[in-house]
Parts: sequence; structure tokens; C-alpha cells
Amino acid sequence: MKNSYDIIIIGGGIVGVSAAYYASLENLRVLLIEKDSIASHASGFAYGGITPHVGLEENDPYNQISQYSYNLHKSLAEEIPELSGIDYGYRSYPNFELAMNDKEEEELEEIYSKYSDLNIYEYFSKKELKKIEPRLGPKIRSSLVTKISSGVEPYKLTLALGTSSEKNGVEILNSEVNDINIETENNIKVTTSNKKEIFTKNLLVSAGPWSSFFSKWFGFEIPIKPLKGQILRLKSNQIIENGFHWGPNYVTTKQDGLIWAGTTEEDVGFDENPSNYGLTSIMESLIDVFPFLQDSELVLQTACLRPLAIDKSPILSKSDKGNLYLASGTGRQGILLGPAMGKLILDNILSRKTEIPIEPFSHKRFSKA
Ligand SMILES: Cc1cc2nc3c(=O)[nH]c(=O)nc-3n(C[C@H](O)[C@H](O)[C@H](O)COP(=O)(O)OP(=O)(O)OC[C@H]3O[C@@H](n4cnc5c(N)ncnc54)[C@H](O)[C@@H]3O)c2cc1C
Repeated sequence: MKNSYDIIIIGGGIVGVSAAYYASLENLRVLLIEKDSIASHASGFAYGGITPHVGLEENDPYNQISQYSYNLHKSLAEEIPELSGIDYGYRSYPNFELAMNDKEEEELEEIYSKYSDLNIYEYFSKKELKKIEPRLGPKIRSSLVTKISSGVEPYKLTLALGTSSEKNGVEILNSEVNDINIETENNIKVTTSNKKEIFTKNLLVSAGPWSSFFSKWFGFEIPIKPLKGQILRLKSNQIIENGFHWGPNYVTTKQDGLIWAGTTEEDVGFDENPSNYGLTSIMESLIDVFPFLQDSELVLQTACLRPLAIDKSPILSKSDKGNLYLASGTGRQGILLGPAMGKLILDNILSRKTEIPIEPFSHKRFSKA
């Protein structure tokens, strides 16, 4: 290990490994520091849907970063499996947004009529839907289907990006960063839990829900907190080929042949344990949508923490104090947004023009009146 780097990245989740991968394509000395192991938190236990929100305006910054990242995923899927030797199950499949009451039905109809010329949505009445998916329960009213939708195995994707970065020369250190010293603007000292002192020109914090720990060095309060979510992996003799979403929930069959169903949104601090509440609430909602899953067998229940910014939008920022950067706050969509977060912050670190505007994601939005 060297003692000085061009970039040190804190955090081996999807955001950190994406930044590491794009940095590995440059002639830079890069070190990624991870306190546990690559993909050991939300990035390894997410659902893996890569589906931009339906119905956002074209110029909406959140829509722009989602579409940008969706396209980066497409390109990555052409290079990363071969480079890393890891097939992370990237596939495109239609996503069915389900309506279960009048309000949801009206909202989906409105989106469909507003964007009908884009040719990315289809609308199915209850009768039409029953023909496509006869197993749906009686509470389902109708569905908006989006063709801009894909999925991955998030653990394998994160690992694959980490492995590809390493193959391209990025170093990975298993340790916890617990102190930072901004000696000069472009000379930052990082101290790890095993008392290593390492110097870097640029430091990127992509520490997921733990990012707010670094607030004091940034000179502003990082408004990110953990939002717990749980997922059930179920065994059934049937598969669910497409993706289905309703309210905050979703279900599909994944690469392992199991049906993955979620989720919960729990404001319970840093508790990462699966609970009985998670099991019963997910099952109750799931059976309304697919009654046949009543008889499925629970194989695994997981829980992890989304890094949620108070306004639910990602944060890409630089500190006024030195070359200290932040990329986090991806909330429920970090697997989708990870590649864009990594690429945009790297371009920012290298003082390049970013391919989409990043000003809307600055922390400065929180101090505006
Ligand atoms: C149940 C659930 C389902 C989800 N499903 C989807 C989905 O379908 N689609 C989607 O797009 N998103 C989904 N998400 C959201 C997504 O998982 C997250 O937004 C994303 O994984 C966050 O990535 P990250 O790299 O910012 O954080 P993390 O994955 O949490 O990684 C941060 C890393 O930083 C490390 N770290 C923290 N502090 C330090 C330190 N001091 N020193 C060294 N290392 C440190 C941690 O150990 C951790 O590994 C889901 C989330 C949950 C909980």
C-alpha cells in the first residue's frame, strides 16, 4: 500500500465502487476503504430494480439523473460481467405499476395520457390485465406498464464493480476511517481504525447511511439518515417473470429462482435486523396482489439501511474547506442511481463538465430559504 493517493473513496457500496470503477479508467492512484466488506450493507441486500420513477417531467433533475444512470447501467452490462467474471443478472423486463384504489387508478391514467406520445407506457384495464397475469388478486384495478425497466442482482453487481476496479489497479483496504485532517486544500490526511495515516489529494465520502458521521469535516450538517427496509425471498413452484410494483412494494423472480418481495420503510436508526413486523407486513400486502404466494416457503429474510436525504433526493457536493466530496442520499433508488453518482462525482473531482447538471444535487439546496 502506498502512503499517498489522488483519490481515496470511503465506502464499498454501489456508490463507492461505481466511483472507483470510473476512476480506474483514468491514470490515477485510487484507494477504496471499506469498514466491513464490499456490498455488505444496502448495496448487497437491495431488491435490484433499475426502474426510473414513472411520470416525472423530462427536465426534472431527479428524472435526468435516473435516465442517465439507467443508460450507464446498459453500458456497464456490456463490459463489467466479462471484466469481473461475475454475471450479475442484468436483464430488461416490463414493470407493472398496479393501482388498487380510485386515487392510484386516476394517477396512473393521468401519467398515461400525459406521456402517451413518448411510447414508453402502456395502460391495462382490469380485464386486459387478467389476461396477461391471471394470478393477480381481486383488489387489483388496473396497471401502467413501463418499458424503461430492468433489474440486477445488487450484491453481484456491487462485487463485480469492485472486482473490475481492483483489476484496473484500484487498491482496496478493509478498515474504518475514523479521522480526517484537512492539512491543505489538496492534502487530506485520513486515519483508519488500525491507526494507518494515508494522504490524498481528494477524498470522497460515499458512506451510505453513515455519511453524516463526516459532517464536522464538511462544515455543514449532512442531512442523511438510515431508512430500514426488509425483503423476503420465497420458494414457489411458480415464477413471476415481470416486475410488479404497488405503493412502496414490489415482487419478481430473481436470478436465484426465488421470488423476492418487499418492502418496509422503518425509521429505527441503525438497526439492521429482520423482524416479525417485516415478515407479516410484506406477506399481507403480497398476498393481496398474488394470492398463490400464500403457500410459498420463506427461504431468507433480509434487512438493510437506505441512506435517505431529508428531501429524498441524492446529494453530490464538495466541501468549501478542501477537496472533500460527498456522494450519497440515494434512498430507495441507489442501485439505479449508483453509476451516475460515481461518474458525476468523479467528473466533478477531475474538474470536468458533467454530462448532466449536478447543481440541483448540491447540499446548498438545504440552506436556501
Ligand atoms: C430493502 C431495500 C431494497 C432496495 N431496493 C432497491 C432497488 O430495487 N433499486 C434501487 O435502485 N435501490 C434499492 N435500494 C436502495 C439502495 O440499496 C441504496 O440506495 C444503495 O445501496 C446505497 O448505496 P451506498 O453505496 O450509498 O451505501 P451502502 O451500500 O450502505 O454502502 C456504504 C458503505 O460505506 C461503508 N462505510 C460507512 N462508514 C465507513 C467508514 N467510516 N469507513 C469505511 N467504510 C465505511 C459501509 O460499511 C458500507 O459498506 C434498496 C434498499 C433497501 C434497504
